This record gives sequence, structure tokens and C-alpha cells, in this order.
Amino acid sequence: MANEDRQSDPVEVLDPVCGMMIEPAGAAATCDYKGQTYYFCMTDCADKFKADPGTYLQPRPADAPPAPDGTIYTCPMDPEVRQPHPGACPKCGMALEPDLSTVIGRVEWTCPMHPEIVRSEPGSCPICGMALEPRTVGLEDAPNPELVDMTRRFRVAVLLGLPVFVLAMADMLGWRLAPFIDMRVTNWVGLACSIPVVFWAGWPFFERAWASVVNRHANMFTLIALGVGAAFFFSAAATLAPGVFPESFRHHGVVETYFDSAVVITALVLLGQVLELRARSRTNSAIRQLLGLAPKTARVLRDGTETDVPLERVQVGDLLRVRPGEKVPVDGVVIEGRTAVDESMVTGEPLPVEKEPGSRVTGATINGTGSVIMRAERVGSGTLLAQIVRMVSEAQRTRAPIQRLADTVAAWFVPAVVAAAAGAFVVWAAVGPDPRLAHALVNAVAVLIIACPCALGLATPMAIMVGTGRGAAAGVLIRNAEALEHLARVDTLVVDKTGTLTEGKPKVSRVIASPGFERKDVLRLAAGLEQGSEHPLAAAITAAARESGAAFAEAKEFESATGGGVSGIVEGRRVVLGNAAYLRRHGVDPDSLAGEAESLRRDGATVVLAAIDGRLAGGIAVADPVRETTPEALRLLREEGVNLVMLTGDNRTTAQAVASRLGIADVRAEVLPPDKRDVVKQLQQQGRRVAMAGDGINDAPALAEAFVGIAMGTGTDVAMESAGVTLVKGDLRGIVRARRLSRATLRNIRQNLFLAFIYNSVGVPVAAGLLYPFFGLLISPIWASAAMTFSSVSVIGNALRLRGVRL
Ligand SMILES: [Zn+2]
Ligand SMILES: [Zn+2]
Ligand SMILES: [Zn+2]
Repeated sequence: MANEDRQSDPVEVLDPVCGMMIEPAGAAATCDYKGQTYYFCMTDCADKFKADPGTYLQPRPADAPPAPDGTIYTCPMDPEVRQPHPGACPKCGMALEPDLSTVIGRVEWTCPMHPEIVRSEPGSCPICGMALEPRTVGLEDAPNPELVDMTRRFRVAVLLGLPVFVLAMADMLGWRLAPFIDMRVTNWVGLACSIPVVFWAGWPFFERAWASVVNRHANMFTLIALGVGAAFFFSAAATLAPGVFPESFRHHGVVETYFDSAVVITALVLLGQVLELRARSRTNSAIRQLLGLAPKTARVLRDGTETDVPLERVQVGDLLRVRPGEKVPVDGVVIEGRTAVDESMVTGEPLPVEKEPGSRVTGATINGTGSVIMRAERVGSGTLLAQIVRMVSEAQRTRAPIQRLADTVAAWFVPAVVAAAAGAFVVWAAVGPDPRLAHALVNAVAVLIIACPCALGLATPMAIMVGTGRGAAAGVLIRNAEALEHLARVDTLVVDKTGTLTEGKPKVSRVIASPGFERKDVLRLAAGLEQGSEHPLAAAITAAARESGAAFAEAKEFESATGGGVSGIVEGRRVVLGNAAYLRRHGVDPDSLAGEAESLRRDGATVVLAAIDGRLAGGIAVADPVRETTPEALRLLREEGVNLVMLTGDNRTTAQAVASRLGIADVRAEVLPPDKRDVVKQLQQQGRRVAMAGDGINDAPALAEAFVGIAMGTGTDVAMESAGVTLVKGDLRGIVRARRLSRATLRNIRQNLFLAFIYNSVGVPVAAGLLYPFFGLLISPIWASAAMTFSSVSVIGNALRLRGVRL
């Protein structure tokens, strides 16, 4: 596997199980098989290999799909941390979680009787010969190994910690448990029990603390290891060699020990980890649900037979049968049959959508009562569902601007806390009540523990995670946390008329002809000229001509001017189509139809004038019906105090007609596509916070320019890329929903930050003993660790409430 060109790089070898390239020196495990050494990225891979080396060493079949990329694990607090195996974040020490977008469509095969057999290809079980079954990787609710591990450690900590705790409590309450249990026995029991608790159950904390030192990135585990370590080592020394301690450590002549603190803190931090991991696994349940929507197989029609094939074997162009009640396997077009499809899982729209030949269907939506045959058009990672999952999981890893505050605070926090703990120690040691050094130690430990910054670090990402997932379930796709945060602060909404306010499918409403011309000739020649054009008006004209049964000829010398018109030769006649100015430029006087055209425009139609052989021949009125949902959406937006601006390339009269019907006062008509962006820019220069909603490719620059770009989902991928928010169903009510989501998420983040700050800002001074001189109030390290566990869990719990927010 050595590469000639990269002699200086360490030689990498292939992990035969997962296919990852690894350095032999960094391999987690090795295995010698038939005289050769194999290296593995993790022990799991080595175990699989040892169970059955043969299958991993066979060359893969040539027609096999490319090996799926391994799952990537990432930290919810530090999205830049990405590694191909689970573990703890090198920065903050938090358990990494799989980036679900990296497991999309990954399928592995396993034996129903022997779950240990897992293959990347179909086949038969080497043990029992049964055919292997496909299963989607990462979707089974496989227990999180981190959670299993932490739970086991927690149980051991509780079991062994209990006697230590009981003895300490008894001592504190002045009970004499038994005459033979004196201080020395208590200490030795404490030492014996706390060694496994601290150094086995609590070992991950020390590992992570050490990693934080190596990475120079102090985090919660730095504090916990310091606190637990201080309590334990002091107590151990006091048990083994009480003679070395000065009088200021002694209480009635005995050196007190804090084994109880060490074990209880360890147990509570473990409990916190368990609760946190459980709660965190629920925060991305939205993505899991989305991924779970994808069916596992599709019924392909080939050579007159129908076969069920695994989903990832479906290819573009395959004909697929979708029976009643089944899920549509991939994105495509209906070619036979009629049905109604429930698309609510991707659009958030509860009503089923009628489908007939020619209708587009989306993978993972649920077929109603009709059976249809469809042609696959987008498969695998190209499907809308895959795009949605990718977008949501990418958004979940972005940082909201509001988080900068938390980040800045957190960066200074840990060093500041260590300093505060040291300060508390010095002050208590100098002027505290007796036994001074003992008090100093306990209070310093309490400060270290209560100041744990993990709640602060979790406050924003958890809310973003739950919020973006909630949005996806309602057809609101958030590209990044910034867009989600900005949306609530928008005061102006610029809407592109066509396709956003209207249905975007213009239809010819009337054809007029000048004296000496026939209406059907005007339409036919216009359609001949327009068939090469991609303009929506062109589609309407050709569709109308086709409907009237006209056969139209190919155009020659076709020319088009953006936003102006088109010209060319059709059936040997010179045809010019466009607005008045465009016709004038071609030497045609459009005035004789001006009155009639104007009255059509007042009804909201766009009029395309036609000249044939240099004479004004007629006009075609094309109207784009306003979406049914638009008036309600606009009313809601207006109620929220959003200024509406309508933007369109249409003629002023047409635009005004639509605008006045919808009650929009600010209309920017006759805006050429390249100028849309300038309109947005201008408004922003006036100090407005502008959201721009549009759908076409030519809207992309304006979407990118705006404070928040909103792509209407019927649009193109380009618009999706440049927009912060995508509404899967191109419907303005989605904007209302998106704003509600944005407000709810921001509110939730503020609550979380408050919860986190309040614990730390109240907890640290109290733990340091600031209230002691006035009220005699102190927090023991045990209560400090309970408070810090509760703070993280309450932040996550609060974030989870976003799942139920009404949109
Ligand atoms: Zn991290
Ligand atoms: Zn088997
Ligand atoms: Zn913590």
C-alpha cells in the first residue's frame, strides 16, 4: 500500500474490515493471520476479523457498489472535531456522537440467527447458511457503547460508594454505629471502597482531564479530576500517614477524610453522564426519524418481472411499482396510475397530494390507495430525503452567533475557576475558622466541582439541534444556526412574485389578434419561437398551443434578450415576442394594442406582444394564479409587523394588480433578475433586516445577499445552496412557521444560557464561602456535584421542550 509519491508520509495500511486507511503505529489492534499482520482502526474491527478472516480477505466483487464511507463521529459542542470512531472529544471531553448524515443509505447484511455476522454485501451466513438480511446501519436503536459503559461504572460507584457514604453520614450525625467502628476503621473502609470507585469508575474523567492538559484545552473534566483527585489523595494520605498533618487539619485531634466526597462526586458525575447521554440521544431524534422514513427495498420492474431489491440497488431510470400503503422508494415521476400521496413527513402539509402520470413523487412519502408505476429519477444521496438529512445534520453542527458569548465566557471559565478555587483555599487557610486547612480544602474542591462549564457549553447547541430537527418535521429546513437566529429579527420580507406569491405555473388566459391576423396563428408561431426557451411564460405559451392541437415548427435564428423578449424565424416568417420596448427596438409600433393590453394587465396578467413580419400581430395574456395560501400567510406576517415588498420582473400594471389584490403597498416592478440583489442591498442599507424569499436560479444572488435567504422548495438546488432557510413546500405559510421556530429556539437558548449562568454565578461564590461570614452558609462538595449534574440535565431537558413547540 506504499505510495511512490508520498515517500515522506507514514505508510498507511488498509483495515480489511472497515476499509479505512490507517497507520500501523496508530492501529488500535492487530491480528496475525496466515503469516501476515493485519491492522485495525478499532478493536471492534479486529474482533469481526478474528471471527471470520476469510470473508474480509476475499477481493470484493467488481460490480459491488463503492464501499460506504465509515461513520464519522463528532462532538455536539465542537463540530470541528470529526473522527472515524467513537470516543471522547479531545477538546471538551464529551462523548462523541455519530454524524447521522454519514450513515445515510448505508446498509449492511446480517444473519437473523447469528447477529455477530455482519457483511457489507448480501450473501449467506457462514454458520447456518441462511440468506443474510439487509439492515440500515446506525438506525437500529443499538445501545450507545458510551452509555452502556457509563451506566456500568455508575452502578459500581453507587454500590461501593454506599458504605463510605453511610459511615460518613453516621459520623456526621454523631451516631455510634457500633463501638468497634472508630475513626480509623471508617478511614480504612473509605480508602478500600473509594480506590475502585475513583480509579475504575471515575477513570474516564482522569483520562479526559489528562487529554485536556495535553491539548491545552481545559474543560469540565479538568475541574472534576482536580476536585476528586484532591479529595481522594488528601484522604488517602490522612489515612496512611496521619502524623504528617499540622494541627490546622485536625478536628478534635483527628485528621478528617473526604472519601465520601470523592465517591459521591464520582457517582454523581457518572449519573450526569448517563442522564446527559440519554437526553442527547433524543435531541437528534428528528434526524433518526427522517432516516427511518426511507424504505429498505423497492419493487423493480425489469424484463416483465417484478423483483424486490435493496434500495441502494435502484438506479436512475428504473421502473418501480409502488403498491397501496407502501412508501415511495426514491424520487421520480409517475408514469402509470393515479393515487394520492401523504407527503406530510417532508413538507409538513397534512393533506394528501393527488398524483397522476407526470406528477413528481418524493422518496419516503406514503402512497395512498392507488397502485402506480414510477420512474426513478434521483436515488441514493441525491434524493430529497437524503438532502434534507444532510442539511439538517450540517445545520445542527453550526454555531449560532449568540453562542459567541458563551464561547468567550467558557474559554476563560476554567482557568478562572481554578484561580477562584485557589483563592478560596488561600483565604480560608488564612482567616477561616478552625480547622482552617481542612475547610480550605473542602471549599476549594466545592468550587472546582460546582463551576463545571458543561451546562454553558450545551446551552446553545442543544437548542439548535432540537430546533432544526423540529423544523425539518414541519418542512422548514435550516441551513445553519445563524439563519435560524436571524429569522426572528427580520423586519422586511422581500418576496419574488412568481412562484412565491403565485403558483409559478403561468397559464395563457387570453390571446388577442390585430386586424388581419388570426389568434391561432399568433399562438402557433409564438409557440414555435418559444419552444426553445426556458422562460416560464414560454412554457405557458407552448402548453396552450399544444392543448389547442397546433403543430408548431422549429425556430431559426433564435435570439433572446434577458427580460425583454425573443425573436427568430418560424415557418419562414420573422416573429418577435416581448414587451413594448422590445418590439419598438425591432421597429414595430405596439401602440394599437396598448389599450387592450393595459386592461389585461389590470387583471394581473402579463401580456406578451407578438409581431409577425414587422407588423404588430397580437398579444398573449399569461396569468399566474395567486396561491390559495398566500393571503393568509401575508396576513399573519403583517400581524407580526413584517414589512412586505413585492419584487417582480413583470410589468408595473400587472404587478400592481396582484399587489393591490394582496394588499402589498411596496411593489418593485420591472426588476431584471440581476437587479434583484440590488433591491435587497438598498433596503439593507436603509437599516432594514431583510429576508428574501424566492425560488429560481436567478434569485440566488439576492438570497445570498439578504440577512436571511428563504428558498421556496419547488425551486432548484442552487437556490437551496444559497439560502439559509428552505421551505420544502413552496408556500409562504412556511415563512410564518420558520419565524415561529426561530423565536422559540432563541427563547430556548436564552433560557438555557440563563439556567447555566445562574448555576455558575450563584454556585461559585456560595461554594467559595462568600456567604459564610453572614449566614454561615457553605456548600459541601457533595451538594456541589449534585447541583452541577442537575444544571446540565436541566439545560438539555429544557432544549428537548422545543420538540413540542407548535409551528
Ligand atoms: Zn467537544
Ligand atoms: Zn446464521
Ligand atoms: Zn458538568
